[in-house]
Order: sequence, then C-alpha cells, then structure tokens
Amino acid sequence: MPKCPKCNKEVYFAERVTSLGKDWHRPCLKCEKCGKTLTSGGHAEHEGKPYCNHPCYSAMFGPKGFGRGGAESHTFK
Ligand SMILES: [Zn+2]
Ligand SMILES: [Zn+2]
Repeated sequence: MPKCPKCNKEVYFAERVTSLGKDWHRPCLKCEKCGKTLTSGGHAEHEGKPYCNHPCYSAMFGPKGFGRGGAESHTFK
C-alpha cells in the first residue's frame, strides 16, 4: 500500500490521486503555500512538494522579475 507523502498514511485506491510520481490522498494534494486543492498533473512542484502554478509557483520560483517588474518600478519613486 503506498503512503501519502503529505501525511504518511496509507492511501487506499478509492481516495488515491497520483501526481509527481507519488500517490496522495485527494485532500492532501494541495498547494504548500496557499492550500488550494490541486489536480493531478495540473500543478507545479518544488523539491517534491506541490504548489499551484499561479500565483504561488510563479511568484516564488518563476523567472526573476516575472510578476514583480511592476512592483519594483513602483518602489522607486
Ligand atoms: Zn495524506
Ligand atoms: Zn498556491
């Protein structure tokens, strides 16, 4: 029986969702940052932890300046 990488409990078939090559409980597969529920294959990953693509992953790990350029230009008055 596979163990959920989030809560370390066994995952039964009926509640299993496979993503990142691991088996998760459906409610356990959610964004590490904002807690949004994620769907298999429809999210990003960093160091084995799931994140939503937007806004969390792109805000934290996206290319530098992506989504921030506007904020920076407002900083310098
Ligand atoms: Zn779990
Ligand atoms: Zn998120």
